[in-house]
Formats: sequence, structure tokens, C-alpha cells
Amino acid sequence: MQQAIFEPAEARKPKATAAEPNPRVKGGYFIAGDTPPEEIFITEEWSEEELMIADMVTEFCIREIQEPFFRRGRELQVTDKADREEVLALLKKAGELGLCGAGIPEAYGGMGLNFRATTLFSKTMANGFSFATTIGAQTSIGCLPIVYYGNDAQKEKYLPGIASGELVAAYALTEPGAGSDANAGKTTATPGPDGSYYLLNGQKIWITNGGFADVFIVFAKIENDENLSAFIVERGFEGLSTGPEEKKMGIKGSSTVQVYFDNCKVPAENLLGERQGGFRMALNILNGGRIKAGAGGVGGAQFSLTKAVRYALGRQQFGRPIAGFGAIQYKIGDIATRAFACEAAVFRTAALIDRKEAELRAGGMPENEAKAKAVREFAIEAAIVKVKGSELVCYATDETIQIHGGMGYAVETGLEMAYRDARITKIYEGANEINRLLSVGELTKRALKTGELDLRSAGKKIPAFLLRQIAPFYPGAKYADEARCVQGLKNAFLFLSGMAGKQLGKKMIDEQELVLLLADILAEAFVAESILLKIKKLDGMPNADPAKLDIQRQMMQLYLYEARAMAKKAAIEAVDSFASGRRKLFFRLVINTLLRPFEVNPRQLRRNIAGFVLENKGYCF
Ligand SMILES: Cc1cc2nc3c(=O)[nH]c(=O)nc-3n(C[C@H](O)[C@H](O)[C@H](O)COP(=O)(O)OP(=O)(O)OC[C@H]3O[C@@H](n4cnc5c(N)ncnc54)[C@H](O)[C@@H]3O)c2cc1C
Repeated sequence: MQQAIFEPAEARKPKATAAEPNPRVKGGYFIAGDTPPEEIFITEEWSEEELMIADMVTEFCIREIQEPFFRRGRELQVTDKADREEVLALLKKAGELGLCGAGIPEAYGGMGLNFRATTLFSKTMANGFSFATTIGAQTSIGCLPIVYYGNDAQKEKYLPGIASGELVAAYALTEPGAGSDANAGKTTATPGPDGSYYLLNGQKIWITNGGFADVFIVFAKIENDENLSAFIVERGFEGLSTGPEEKKMGIKGSSTVQVYFDNCKVPAENLLGERQGGFRMALNILNGGRIKAGAGGVGGAQFSLTKAVRYALGRQQFGRPIAGFGAIQYKIGDIATRAFACEAAVFRTAALIDRKEAELRAGGMPENEAKAKAVREFAIEAAIVKVKGSELVCYATDETIQIHGGMGYAVETGLEMAYRDARITKIYEGANEINRLLSVGELTKRALKTGELDLRSAGKKIPAFLLRQIAPFYPGAKYADEARCVQGLKNAFLFLSGMAGKQLGKKMIDEQELVLLLADILAEAFVAESILLKIKKLDGMPNADPAKLDIQRQMMQLYLYEARAMAKKAAIEAVDSFASGRRKLFFRLVINTLLRPFEVNPRQLRRNIAGFVLENKGYCF
């Protein structure tokens, strides 16, 4: 086992924190208050052990997946018998290295990595093409329901096999009539007369790993329950069958099938968690999965960028490498910046989950309960990074093809595959529309219903901020303009959601066009703050490389420039959508003041960033 080779102690357990919980370690807090830079985790702080894990995953992906791909000259297709065997062999090899058990506790044969390390694992696994989806289902949605909600007997029975790769895991929630509306599933679980078993009847669709999974986490309603329950269902249980492999646009090396239950007999002890607890469980598992999906998006974008850079340096047109053209540098500077910013947000979120878990455990909560609750806490941030990471990788793969010109369209480069593979990330783990709606819906709920977030006090500070926008208080202070830009983004969200809420009341949440615009501003506020905090923290580190830091600072400025422009467009459209007459004029004035221009030269920033990336022959942050 890999554990014998290294002992990633730091990566394993979230550190116990002081008994006093930190009020800023709270989902959605970023919009209501400020966080000191020293409190966020940045990727320059990886432990040696975590970096070793990442290296091991990269090496696995290069040796076992990328090199065979380029030798073969085509992608694996799970519809092909031999290719399918190869995918299964890959899972076995990954299992032998300990990779299938990344998030499984050591007591059950896993690596017992903490959340941020498993997120790094997901980011790095993006080097593994469609196998990232296969092992993602194995290590995340397929096994974490047992890790978080299983009892000791269930853990003992299933987790060691999943960790070693001997058992393949799948997560079966979606049904033909229940996709985004997951709780509308029609699969039923009828208790047997003596209560010793349930009979499952129904159908699941789009189940990753379903073609060869040994263990399925299946969501079904018991009798006339309002909510789903969850079950651990083995392939060998009587009455379970699977359909043929779906013919998909991308991730063709991953298995996706329908699963049928025809009086499938499931022992009562395989009920996972509480009766009717399945819906909450399903959503919470998706919360964690979304952060991993965001991380995968970052990894995929960085991988693509490096390919684009290497090609641009070698490809000559008009007597010079295309890397010298401003049009190409624009794309390189842009992808690098967005990937850097998104990464800051992803790992800030992942590390917050570990801190929350540590706080909950220090307060006496059992480990698995603390893990599940900590993930749930950051549902807003999870939705944001999922949307951002998926849109980033789609954008990056598209532009990488563009940089390759006609060669980008050729199968042998693997780029058209990456482009097709990336597309699914906007659909699964909750479609991006759903995640956008969720981020604002959840924030509103926590502010208005449960009172967990004090947005009112944050909103009360807007008038003073407006004054400062007109006559800055602290000219010259380091990062003062950047901080004002980020605060402007936050205030634009607070102002618009407050005004729209006042006008539309509870109906606001049904005005989806408006909520989607608000969600984009909210997301920009979070990512922009994450990159600014990261730069501030880096700036205070004695070992930061000054040349690199200078470029990272410029990436932060470029990101803020773009975030403000995007947020302003969304904010004005929001105002025009719900206000009219003099109110509209007043709201526009407020938005223009809150989101006043962030004065940088974007062309120069992009050129400098692209120049550095080209010099380093790839993504280098
Ligand atoms: C390759 C692949 C692998 C998958 N793997 C798994 C898996 O392992 N396990 C599993 O359980 N599922 C899996 N899924 C299913 C996936 O999670 C769903 O496809 C996804 O949740 C969307 O559901 P749907 O396809 O039914 O689309 P729908 O829910 O029908 O949505 C269609 C469109 O309508 C929008 N929409 C829906 N409801 C609303 C609303 N209330 N407001 C605004 N817009 C809305 C959506 O955003 C989307 O754009 C997989 C899917 C694919 C394609």
C-alpha cells in the first residue's frame, strides 16, 4: 500500500483548533464581512505530503493514461470490450497505489485524507482524461455516503474493498423523471413483511460506473414517505440489472448506464443513515462533489493552457511563433488569470471545510457527523466554485483548440476530446443553472429564515462606502483600490438583493433571470476576494518569489478588472429588469458608484502575464 511509502500525516487530519469557534468559518460569511488574509489557506502552503500525493497522481496519469493515449492515438471507449477491461485495470492499479481510498479513513484501508487534500487529488486527477470521472465517482459520490453516514458494520463491509479498488462504487440518484428535481424520484422501497428486507422497484439513469459497479448507493422512497432514503445495493442482489452503455458526447472512457430494480431484495441493514434522510444526504454529497468538480475544472484548465503555450511557442506563422501575437497572448493571459483565481477560491473553500470539521470535533461532535456538517456549511461556496470551475475548463479547452488552429481539431492532439469531456461538467453535480439559483437561494435562506448570516448589518455600511467611493479615505494604502473593488462587488450584491427583495418580497426567488444575475455578482465577489486575500497573504510571506509574486499581483488586478466589468453588466441588467422610473435612475447611479472603474491597463497586464507563462513554458503558479 502507498501509505507504507509516505506518511501524509498533515494531509490526513484537520488540525484541532482552539475551543472557541471562529465566526468567520461560516458558509456565506464572505459576503457579510471581512476575512484577514492570514486566515485563508493558499496553495503555496501545501505540506510536503500533500505535494507528494499530487506528484503521485500526476505520475499515474502520465504513465497510465496520457502516454497510452498518445501511443494508441485515440481515446478509450467503454462501449468497446477491450477498452472497458483497460478502464477496470486502471481502477485496480489506482487501488493498489491507494488512490481509490483517498477520502476513506485509514481504519478502513484508505488514506484518510482531509478535505483539502482530496480536493487537490481531484484537481490533479484532471490529468487523467475521462478516468477522472470514473475514479471521481469511486472516491467521492460512490463512497462518501458510507464514510459520512454509514454505521460501523457498513463501513467494515464495503469501505476496504472500495479503497483497494476491488469493489467499484456508483451513486444512483437521477431518474428519467427526476434530474434537477431529485426528490421527485419514483423508485420505491417496500419493507418486507418481517422487516428484514426492502424490495426496490424503479429505474435510475445516467449512472457513472454503473456498467461495472459492485456497490450502488441508491436513493428511493419507502412507502409513501415525502423524502428519499438511501440504500447500499450490491450488484449481486436479486432483481438488479443494468442497461447498455450510453453513447455520449464525451468522457467516453467512463461507464454511464441505466440501472433497473425489479423487486430487488435489499437487506434491512443496508438502509444507509436514517429513513427519509436520503434527500439531505444526496444533496450534501453533491455539495462535496461540487468542490471537487470545481477543482477538476481548475486542473483541466491548467493542463490545457500548458498544451496551448507549448504549441504557440513552436508554431510559426508570418515568420514568427504565434506566441508573439497579441491575440494569442490575450488568451494565454486570460486563461492563466482565471485558473489562478478559481484555484484560490476552490482551495479556500476546501480548507474552510477542514477548519469547520476540526471546530465541530473539538466541540465533541463525532467525526463522520462533523465531516458531513462541515461540507453542508459551505454549500454556497461549493455551488459557486462548481459553476466557476466548469465554465473555466470549457472556456480553456475551447481557446486551447483555437490556439492550435486546425491541429486543435485533429483527434491525435487529444484536444477535441478534452473539449467534449469538459462539457459535461456544466451539467452534472447539479446543472449550473441550479447551482446559481442555489447559491443565492441558500444565502437568502440563511439571512432571512435561519438568521445565520447578518446581511442587514453589512447592508447598513453601504452609504458610508458610497461616500468613500466618491472621495477615497485612504489613498495610497497598499491594495486599497483592490479592496475597494472587492467591497464594491459585495455591496452591489447586497444592495441589489436588498432592493429587489424589498420590491418583490418572497417572489424574488422565483424571478430566475434576476437571481441568475445576482448569482453571477455573488460568485465574482467570492472569487475576487479569494484572489485578493491570496495575494495579500503571499505578499507577507518571506519566501515568496518576487518576480512570480509581481505577476500573480497582476493576475489579481486583471481578475478584478474583469470581475467588475462582468458584475456591472449583470447589475445594470438586474436594475433594468426590476426597477422603473426614478428608482431605476437612482439604482443605476448607486451601481455606477459602487462599481466604479478599476483603473488598470488590461492589455499590458495580459501581455505581462502571458510573457511570464510563455517564459515558463506552461502554467507555473
Ligand atoms: C455523463 C453523465 C454522468 C452522470 N452521472 C450521474 C451519476 O453518477 N449519478 C446520478 O445520480 N446522476 C448522474 N448524472 C445525472 C446528472 O446529475 C443530471 O443529468 C443532472 O442533474 C441534470 O438533470 P437532467 O439531466 O434530468 O436535466 P433536467 O433536470 O431536465 O434539466 C434540464 C435543463 O433545465 C434546467 N432546469 C431544471 N430545473 C430547473 C429549475 N428549477 N429552474 C431553472 N432551470 C432548471 C437545468 O439547469 C438544465 O439546463 C449524470 C449525467 C451525465 C450526462
